[in-house]
Formats: sequence, C-alpha cells, structure tokens
Amino acid sequence: MKTTILMLALTIISIVSCQNKPHIINKKSEMTEKNPAPNSPDNPYYSRADTTELDLPDSVWKKVLSDSIYQVARGKATEEAFTGKYWDYTGTGTYYCAACGNGLFRSDSKFASSCGWPSFFETLRKNSVKYRPDLSYGMNRTEVICGRCGAHLGHLFDDGPPPTGKRYCMNSIVLDFEPDESNESSHRNH
Ligand code: FE
Repeated sequence: MKTTILMLALTIISIVSCQNKPHIINKKSEMTEKNPAPNSPDNPYYSRADTTELDLPDSVWKKVLSDSIYQVARGKATEEAFTGKYWDYTGTGTYYCAACGNGLFRSDSKFASSCGWPSFFETLRKNSVKYRPDLSYGMNRTEVICGRCGAHLGHLFDDGPPPTGKRYCMNSIVLDFEPDESNESSHRNH
C-alpha cells in the first residue's frame, strides 16, 4: 500500500514538473505578443523588452523574416535610394530593429539627408548597434549591425551634422517605427 501511494505521489510530482516547461514558453510568448513584429508577425524572436543578444543562424532568420527584410538584414542588400518608407519621414517616436525589436534610434536624432536613406546622428543607446569594417566593393566603410541580433542595418559615415558629426545611413526596410502618440499621422518633408 505504501509503495502504491509513493508511486502515485511521484507520478503527480512528475506531471507538475513537466507542466513547468510549457509555462515558461507561454510567458515568453505573452511577452512577444505585446509587440509582435510589424512586418514579420510570425517572428518569435522579436521583442522590444528583451535585450538578450541573439546568435541565430541565417537558416532560422530565413524562416521568420519576410524576404525583403531578410535580404537586407542577413544578405546585406541595400535598398534603392529614395524608395524606403522612412528616408524623408519626420514623425516623432522610436525606430526599432525590424528583425528583433531592439531599440535603435530616436526621431530627434534623425536629420534630413540628401542621400535618400534615413539618416541619424546618434543611436538610442551606446550598445544599440555594433560596428564592423566593410571593405566590399573597393570601399573602406564601417558597417552598422544591430547590437542584439547582428542584422545588417547600413553604414556609418563621418559627414553628419553636429553634435556628433556622424551619419548613420540606414535601410528603411530593417527599421520599425513606433510613434510616441498612437494617433499620430504621417509627416513628410515634402
Ligand atoms: Fe536586431
């Protein structure tokens, strides 16, 4: 009898401990559901709250990103000048990485640039982005990648305005903009 009761108790403990695992997954899902990826809604790695660095192979990103975001974020493609949705956008708010939700820039660091891509003179946080030398196409440039997921975002140049003199030249497709006011309408330079 005692053995039967002991076995029953162990079975109940086993079931309860197994249920802990799905609970953790559910918590993570709840977190990402609050801020689903606007352009890739099936991306489980997108979060504006979780700053944990992601080290995922391109094969994973290929599955969760839209083709157009993947081509820039992982394939380092560059969108055509004057075609992106944010190159002349002047709304007030925050720009996030479209691949992972990491905070990248505030709108008050954005400036009107004639280059045809959204341009900023400083990042939201010091570790919002990382830098890599880029010697491709016979040029000596500094590549800017997301500090959380490593997505290619664009390049950094030294011809920006004060106070930094820097120009973060970004691809619109890898940026998600969140306005400060939810009812804010579009703002265009022209
Ligand atoms: Fe990212």
